[in-house]
Amino acid sequence: MKPPSTRPSRYTCLAGLLALCMVCASPIWAQQRQVRVGVYANEPKILMGQDGQISGILGELLNEIAREESWQLIPTPCDWQTCLDLAQNGTIDLLPDVAFSEARARLLDFHQQPSLYSWSQLYSREEANLQSILDLKDRRIAVLDRSIQQNYLQMLLDSFGLQARLIPVQSLAEGFELVTKQQAEAVVANQQFGDFHAPHYQLRSTPIMFQPVQLFYATRKGSNSELLSSIDRHLREWRDSPSSYYYQTLQRWGGERPRLLVPTAAWWGLAILAGLLLTALGGALLLRRQVAEKTRHLKASEQRLNTILDSVEAHIYIKDHELRYQYANRKVCELFGVPLAQVVGQTDQDFFDAATVASLHENDRRVLLLGERVETEEINRSPDGALEQTYLSVKLPLRHPDGSIYALCGISTDISEHKRNLEQIHRLAFYDLLTGLPNRRLLLDRLQHALAQRGRSQLDGALLFIDLDNFKDINDTLGHDMGDQLLQQVALRLSSHVREEDTLARLGGDEFVLMLEGLQLQLPESITQIETVASKLIQVLGEPYVLQGRSHTSTASIGIALFSEAQGTMDELLKRADLAMYEAKAAGRNTLRFFNPEMQAEVSARTTLENDLRQSLSARQFVLHYQPQVNAQGQLLGAEALVRWQHPSRGLVAPGEFIPLAESTGLILPLGRWILHSACQQLVTWAADSGREQLTMAVNVSARQFHHPDFVNDVLAVLDETGANPQRLELELTESHLVQDVEAMIVKMDQLKARGVRFALDDFGTGYSSLSYLKRLPLDQLKIDRSFVRDLLSDSDDEAIVRTIVALGAGMDLQVIAEGVETLAQRDALLRLGCQRFQGYLFGKPEPAQRLEQWPRPADASSA
Ligand code: C2E
Ligand code: CA
Ligand code: CA
Repeated sequence: MKPPSTRPSRYTCLAGLLALCMVCASPIWAQQRQVRVGVYANEPKILMGQDGQISGILGELLNEIAREESWQLIPTPCDWQTCLDLAQNGTIDLLPDVAFSEARARLLDFHQQPSLYSWSQLYSREEANLQSILDLKDRRIAVLDRSIQQNYLQMLLDSFGLQARLIPVQSLAEGFELVTKQQAEAVVANQQFGDFHAPHYQLRSTPIMFQPVQLFYATRKGSNSELLSSIDRHLREWRDSPSSYYYQTLQRWGGERPRLLVPTAAWWGLAILAGLLLTALGGALLLRRQVAEKTRHLKASEQRLNTILDSVEAHIYIKDHELRYQYANRKVCELFGVPLAQVVGQTDQDFFDAATVASLHENDRRVLLLGERVETEEINRSPDGALEQTYLSVKLPLRHPDGSIYALCGISTDISEHKRNLEQIHRLAFYDLLTGLPNRRLLLDRLQHALAQRGRSQLDGALLFIDLDNFKDINDTLGHDMGDQLLQQVALRLSSHVREEDTLARLGGDEFVLMLEGLQLQLPESITQIETVASKLIQVLGEPYVLQGRSHTSTASIGIALFSEAQGTMDELLKRADLAMYEAKAAGRNTLRFFNPEMQAEVSARTTLENDLRQSLSARQFVLHYQPQVNAQGQLLGAEALVRWQHPSRGLVAPGEFIPLAESTGLILPLGRWILHSACQQLVTWAADSGREQLTMAVNVSARQFHHPDFVNDVLAVLDETGANPQRLELELTESHLVQDVEAMIVKMDQLKARGVRFALDDFGTGYSSLSYLKRLPLDQLKIDRSFVRDLLSDSDDEAIVRTIVALGAGMDLQVIAEGVETLAQRDALLRLGCQRFQGYLFGKPEPAQRLEQWPRPADASSA
């Protein structure tokens, strides 16, 4: 308390007066030292008495010292832990019953002469039968929370390698209660408390004792040395006299305690006790020590090994026979993203996708079943397939001493990066960076390979040299960036129009090369194949490009050389293709040229013809000629319409020269429609001419025309437009039509048949006809091909064929007509074989319609 010296005199006088009164009223108080004592319940050592005074062995000893020293003891009840705290912060002056420890000596002061000797002992129910520390395994033991016993017992258990559950309690009474209630098997108590209270809880002491302690009164560090020295003085006096207050007090509280009569002897007794205990456990302990030592060694070397394995940059693992992971180092755990405990026991199924698992296990089984050392590249994908890594894996069998395999050890090194680098190097070396296409080097590689291969195969190849026509202009006017963009777009267009087996390369600049393989060796076919490809490329490259948001046009010229004509040398081939490309440029660009002049001539002729054909269609340069068809009596039945091309310079061109080209270019569609229309108009003319209204009109329909989806509608439209009688119209199909979808063909024929249109099968006997198809097709007539008629008189086979066709027609209720009849002898022979209808030069060549009108009307003929 602060002295009131700073206050005015009136208050100072009052305080002084009060103090004087107190001294006068109770003179003893003046010498009394107030000592606050922490009291917690630890009977018989210390407890609060009924009278509010400190009681118990240590309480009574302190009361006696206080009496002699004129201290006024002020008991402060607290629980053990609070008491300790209060002693440390000086709220209380003395705390009895404190066991000495180095740790506590740093926070508290102790006197010299122990106030009491004690040790810890376990108390349990009778039936628990706890004989040694080893019996504590897996037992529940109540122990005062944060007490010295708690630490000591834990250390003791640890040193024996025993697991036991220590239940911390706030008071010893609580601990004893737990054992009584069977919530613990034993309770740790100081021997005084234990012996004193055990009977009350119907517990008994066990032979398990440990940690002899000396108990003191403790005080705050550096605060109450005079209290401690007074206590020491009294204890020393008492200890030397058996009849002293000390021993009387001990007897009062615990009965006779002979070993305490001579505390040193008691100390030795306890030591012997401990010795016995240790001897009993010594052997076990020694063994355990040895085992522990060995285990420590093993643990240490395992630890060392783990450290090494974990610091290696490879994935190391062990799998058992069921391919479950038994061990995995840090890298593996990192890869799987789980701790080791979650790797062990798992299989690859938990970490990889199905395909990976299958291939990993194939390798693993070779190791485990065949005992092989497998060294291989493994590609591992995560379960969702998102992450793909390549590993170089070495897998070896792990064997028992008898040689049997119990596991495999794998060491996998991630070589993905290395692989990527290789790929990158490969890309740089063999591919063009701008377009991603193979570069000159890769092209030459493949060309060499292809030329070597060609010798063995029956197929040819070709080199197409593609050069942009106005690339320099674009580069100069729009800049190189735009030029690059154009090249990229060109590469893209080219790529999407070549087959996978062909090689498209960029040689540099605006030069591209396409290498075609697997071409027909026969000339006309291979030319058609190559020309189709090249024309397509010229067409797609000629379509507008969008550069910088604006449309630009660019064209390309292509030079072509065939493998077969370059005598197999690569340089010669490239040179020829290059030369041909310059020819294409010279011919006006945006075109293609073959190196071979013969081929070129053929191609050129075709190109010219095609262009002419296009123009002539609009210029109406086509005419229809009609060839008469007659019966056995030579009477006119109808005619076949045959197209001719009235070429301005070449004169009348036969259909054989342009129909195939019209078919391949698609021009046959508009041409075919025109033919049909003209023929129908002719039919209408005849219909108006009495005596000719019965004439029929045969019109040839090409396969491409017939299979066009609009064909049926086109025919019906023409019939409607012209007003021709469908029953007079006869469409001629050839067996080549049958190569395509016969079902669809039948549907179309039926649709037209429903309107009355007739069908004839042209050139019958030359192609492929299956009888079953023939039966299903809604036909009206078979046309015996000219070739059988021609040699009918000299070739008995042909005679047999004609006879068969006639029989077939009769059997299937079809008319049969023979074409190409040039002589009477042929006509007579056909008549004999049963054929009743004829067409051929004998009766009339294909001629303009006017010539047909000079024929006698069928009515006239029959009347003649
Ligand atoms: P095709 O349909 O077999 O026509 C009969 C061909 O034989 C005609 O040739 C005709 O002139 C010829 N010919 C007729 N009688 C005799 C004969 O006694 N002796 C000889 N040596 N030949 C005879 P053309 O007109 O040159 O037609 C050839 C082929 O062109 C036709 O063969 C047909 O397949 C096709 N064709 C003709 N016109 C058309 C047409 O308008 N459309 C379609 N798609 N093809 C047509
Ligand atoms: Ca015909
Ligand atoms: Ca024919």
